[in-house]
Amino acid sequence: MTRVLVTHHHPDHMGNAGWFIKHHGAALWTTRTAWLFSRMLTLDVQAEWPAETIEFYRRSGMADDVLQGRLAERPFNFADVVHPMPLGFHRIKEGDEITIGARRWRVLIGNGHAPEHATLWSLDDNIVIAGDQIIPGISSNLGVYATEPEADPVQDWLTSCERFAAIASDDHFVLPGHKLPFTGLPDRMRQLIDNHHSALVRLLDHLDSPKSAGECFQPLFKRKIGAGEYGLALVEAVGHLNHLHQIGKVTRHMGDNGALLFQRI
Ligand SMILES: [Zn+2]
Repeated sequence: MTRVLVTHHHPDHMGNAGWFIKHHGAALWTTRTAWLFSRMLTLDVQAEWPAETIEFYRRSGMADDVLQGRLAERPFNFADVVHPMPLGFHRIKEGDEITIGARRWRVLIGNGHAPEHATLWSLDDNIVIAGDQIIPGISSNLGVYATEPEADPVQDWLTSCERFAAIASDDHFVLPGHKLPFTGLPDRMRQLIDNHHSALVRLLDHLDSPKSAGECFQPLFKRKIGAGEYGLALVEAVGHLNHLHQIGKVTRHMGDNGALLFQRI
């Protein structure tokens, strides 16, 4: 094995890269941001909950029982689930042409699900390696975290989707990071864009009275959110509220319980 190419820093993608590198002598090929995030997060071990994270949960209106449950346990640590990362890496970036096996590939960068997420587009046939930037059937999580509480991943996502929609063709054969390979990329790109626009319309409707992110699951996801999905739902709700706030559709103020409350203008 000579190389491990990783599309983005999330633990279910970067998880064993360090192991392949250490035990098989592979080189890590990824984007600079993916390497920086994963290297930083493997070194940044927290035995106790950081004050900023607790504050972020409060501002988001996390349900009290969920918050107390989390505080009673060790915080999530990237380092607990990801093999230690190497000190160095080989950078891939927007527009690069790289060769893997018999094919040449163009690197195009997406954003929104993870910062500087690489996708690979074959220059020799119709294959696209999409990572989590383009997945069939399920929508990629667009989360906001305590590290950047004012982030607007929804805008980043929509910008990337519009860009990929413009180059998508019906004969593209897409290999996604989850679920099965698929064709019909132009339709899928349109769905990914429309799903978020419709979610934003439902959310705006819901904000006729002030609400925190923790009170916005129903209009966004149209179903009951279980304990296992709560964290992802909350960070995605913050993402959509931040977007509405940054495009000037809602106001926000701090509620009595320390949660930011958003309301339609
Ligand atoms: Zn991911």
